[in-house]
Amino acid sequence: MAENVWQIGDVKITRIVEGETTGPMFLLPDATKENILAMPWLQPHFADEQGNCRISIHALVLDTPTKTIVVDTCLGNDKQRAMEFWANLQTKFMDDMAAAGYPPESIDTVLCTHLHTDHVGWNTKLEGDRWVPTFPQAEYLFGEAEWEYTDAQRSNPLYNEFIVDSIQPVIDAGLARFVDMNEKICDEVCLVPTPGHTPGHVSVVISSKGERAVITGDFLHHPCQMEEPYWECEADWDTPMAQKTRVERLGEFADESLLVFGTHFASPSAGRVVRKSKHFQFEV
Ligand SMILES: [Zn+2]
Repeated sequence: MAENVWQIGDVKITRIVEGETTGPMFLLPDATKENILAMPWLQPHFADEQGNCRISIHALVLDTPTKTIVVDTCLGNDKQRAMEFWANLQTKFMDDMAAAGYPPESIDTVLCTHLHTDHVGWNTKLEGDRWVPTFPQAEYLFGEAEWEYTDAQRSNPLYNEFIVDSIQPVIDAGLARFVDMNEKICDEVCLVPTPGHTPGHVSVVISSKGERAVITGDFLHHPCQMEEPYWECEADWDTPMAQKTRVERLGEFADESLLVFGTHFASPSAGRVVRKSKHFQFEV
């Protein structure tokens, strides 16, 4: 699994994969096979020769000198979901995390870039007939603005299903803390606002010993959005805001040449944003 470990100064970053798939990119209606094939730089890592997109659901563990942080907790096992292909999963995600050196009790911080079902799943696990926090020693950080919005969506079953089994049990256990969109987590890790996909969406910046990296969250779902940041994403809450965030942040990332970890980017998941004449590309 060496290809899933990176070092940014004093911070070791480990990717734990819950699943990778190749197929049509449903969230991006413009990402037709033709349009994806017109971006040959996406192959072989992020698209196949037929124009299908590869995507990943994974968590990143940030092992810093003072904190051990899990960023985004994927889908989780045993969850009943309206989206059939995400329902009642039985993966060995937690075994893989332990094998990478991170058993649940080693995690002291859980961080969700935003509150969507594929970013909060392993917040909890099923114990008997109850959902309990998977990481009993951890403080769970949720964006305050993000929670305010999400909490008001309970009448929508697609929200309520994960609020009830993956967020409320963490709050009830007293492990949740609601944070600012610019929160500093520790010397090496801080949040930056990247709203649009959701109201309180954040990305995560890692800086140590002159090296820098960022975890996108879902302000990007696939590297094709670097070439086409204005393509509409059906999962975005506010399309113009999401487009503005993409264009501005991609410009910053290209200028800084920092290492970019895409939350849904297939292996190798990390690379650098480079400026082309009219747009951006991803180089791994
Ligand atoms: Zn999302």
